[in-house]
Amino acid sequence: MSAFLVAWGDVVSGAHGLVDQALEVDPLGGTSVAWSASLHQLNVRPIAEDDRLPACQKNKQTKGAPVPEVHAVLQAFVTSKRALVLATLTAEQRTVAEAGLVTLLEHAKAHYAQKASEPVKRGLFKHAKVTAAKHQYGTTSGPEVYVMECPVCRGPRQTEALSCVFCGADL
Ligand SMILES: [Zn+2]
Repeated sequence: MSAFLVAWGDVVSGAHGLVDQALEVDPLGGTSVAWSASLHQLNVRPIAEDDRLPACQKNKQTKGAPVPEVHAVLQAFVTSKRALVLATLTAEQRTVAEAGLVTLLEHAKAHYAQKASEPVKRGLFKHAKVTAAKHQYGTTSGPEVYVMECPVCRGPRQTEALSCVFCGADL
């Protein structure tokens, strides 16, 4: 597999993982050890204690870390991977990959905002809720929800392109 495809896969699965991590934050507007570590690692300042719940309410959230904090983390994550994704590409491929990164980020942000405002099922223990959320999430959120991809190599694609610029497959 090319260095690009490895890097691209890392960005898709990394964004996916961060969204999952943020959704598992409990109670609403709180944080977790894993989530705090991700903020620290990506050098994102947490939203202040007093502003967390209002930020969640403003975004009609039912669960998870505050939407603006998650968006900042996703932005920082994708930015941190950008150079690696583009490193081995030609100019033409870079244009497609840059657009792919923008789309991936937009979709990941929208996906979190939507998932974090879904009604929380009552009457389940916390671990069951987490499992249910994961399951739900897993069935609706393959990498394809983030960005249109080449069916062969999963590289990002532009709708106008007739063949994949990364592997040459017909689209
Ligand atoms: Zn391809």
